[in-house]
Amino acid sequence: MKKRRTKIVATLGPASSSPESIEQLLLAGLDVARLNFSHGTADEHRQRVRMLREISSRLGLHTAIMGDLQGPKIRIARFRDTQVTLEKGQAFTLSNNHPSTEGNERIVGIDYPSLVQDCRPGDELLLDDGRVVLHVESVDDHAVHTTVAVGGPLSNNKGINRRGGGISAPSLTEKDHEDIRLAAELEVDYVAVSFPRYGSDIETARKLVRAAGSPAWLIAKIERAEAVADDAALDSLIQASDGVMVARGDLGVEVGDARLVGIQKRIIQHARHQNKLVITATQMMESMIASPLPTRAEVSDVANAVLDHTDAVMLSGETASGKYPVEAVAAMARIAQGAEQEPSTTRSQHRVGQSFKRCDETIALASMYAANHFNRVKAIVSLTETGNTPLIMSRIRSGVPIYCFTPHPATQRRACLIRGVYPIPFDPAAYPPADVSEAAIRLLKDQGIVATGDWVILTKGDSSHNSGGTNTMKIIRVE
Ligand code: PGA
Ligand code: MN
Repeated sequence: MKKRRTKIVATLGPASSSPESIEQLLLAGLDVARLNFSHGTADEHRQRVRMLREISSRLGLHTAIMGDLQGPKIRIARFRDTQVTLEKGQAFTLSNNHPSTEGNERIVGIDYPSLVQDCRPGDELLLDDGRVVLHVESVDDHAVHTTVAVGGPLSNNKGINRRGGGISAPSLTEKDHEDIRLAAELEVDYVAVSFPRYGSDIETARKLVRAAGSPAWLIAKIERAEAVADDAALDSLIQASDGVMVARGDLGVEVGDARLVGIQKRIIQHARHQNKLVITATQMMESMIASPLPTRAEVSDVANAVLDHTDAVMLSGETASGKYPVEAVAAMARIAQGAEQEPSTTRSQHRVGQSFKRCDETIALASMYAANHFNRVKAIVSLTETGNTPLIMSRIRSGVPIYCFTPHPATQRRACLIRGVYPIPFDPAAYPPADVSEAAIRLLKDQGIVATGDWVILTKGDSSHNSGGTNTMKIIRVE
C-alpha cells in the first residue's frame, strides 16, 4: 500500500505524557503534536515538548508541534457542589456579580461582564458544547435571565456559546499573550488562534508571534458563526492565515449541527483554493475515548474528510485524556490510508481554467500537472526555504509523493502537517550549483524511494536563499 498522505494531529494531555505513550503515538502515526493551552501548566507543556523532540529524533522521525491558544472562551463560574442538574422549563440566571464558587440550581456566576450587552431576549445560549440550552427571557445590568430549554447536568467552568454567534470578546486575551511567549520559547511550528472573527485578528496574532521571536505559521480556527456567515468573511480569515482548522466543537454549536458538514466541505475547498492548509478537528473518534474501536459513523467521518482532501485530521480528548490514545491514532492512520486508495483522491481538476498569480505558484502547479500526466514520475523533489512551494503543490490531488528538501529543521517540521509532503534534510549550499540536482536525486535513491529508470520532477530557485524564488522545474531520469 502507498505511504499515507493525510496527516494526523493529536493532542497531548494526561493520557499521553509518558515517554512510553509518546513513543507509541509516534510509531502509530502522529505527525503533529498539539499542545492545548486551555489545559495544563507551562511546565507540563515544556516537559511534553522536550520528551516529544527527544523521542522523535531518536526514532529518526520528523514531528511538528502546534500550540493552540485558549482564546476568549466564555465560561460559567463554579457551583457550590461542583455540579447541578437543570430541569427543562425552570428559570436559570447567569450573573456577573454572583460569587464565583457559589453557583446553584437557580444561578451561577460568569467571568465575562459583556455577556449582558451581547444578549437579547429570544437568544439561545448553549452550554457545555450544546448539551444544555438556555432561552434568554430578559437581560438587566448584571445578569442574563433564562428558561432552560434543554436540561441536564451542568458542572463547573463549562463554556457558553450563543446560537448564531455575536459574542464580542476580543480574540486575544491576556493569557493568550503569555501563551504566545511560551509557544515561542518552545519553538512550536504552528500557532492556532481560537475564535478569530476577522483577518485582522490573525494579523494581530502574527505580529505578537513574530515579536516573541517565533517563525511559526498561523492557523485560524474557524469556530464562530460570523466567520462562515458569507464567503467574504471566510475568505478574509483564510487569506490572513497560513492554514485553518475546521473547529467543529464550537462551530457546530454556533451554526447548529445540521449546517456543519456542508460548511466543513466549503472551508476545505476554500482553503485549498487559496493555497492554504486545512485541518479537520473535533470528535472524529469521540467514542474511542472509552472504546478501543471506532464506530462506523466515525470511520466514515474520517474517510470523508480525507476524500474531501483535508491536509490533516485531528484528535483531541481521544489522545489527551482517553483510554485508547494509541489505538485512536492507529485507527485514524489506517482509515486515512484506506480512503486514499480511492482513485478520485489522485485526480485533480484543481483551478483548471483559472489564472495564476505568481511565478513559484505557476511552477508548483505545472509540476503537479506534469507529475499526474507523465505516469513514470515516482517522486517530486522541491528544494525549498520555507516549505511554501510544496504546500502549493500539494493543493493538487496526486498519488505522487512530494519531498520537501530543505536544510532548515523548522521547515522540515512544518512540512509534517502538509498532505502528501515529506521532509528530507538537504543543504544545496553543500554542493557546487551544477551538482545540486544530481545530489538530491542520489539521496532519494539511497533512501530507496526511487530506482534506476524512474523519473523525478525537481523544482528549485536560481538562488537557494530566496523564499518565493522557485522558478525552475526539471524532469530527470534516475540513472
Ligand atoms: P477547542 O477547539 O478544542 O480548543 O475548543 C476545537 C473546536 O472547537 O472544535
Ligand atoms: Mn473551540
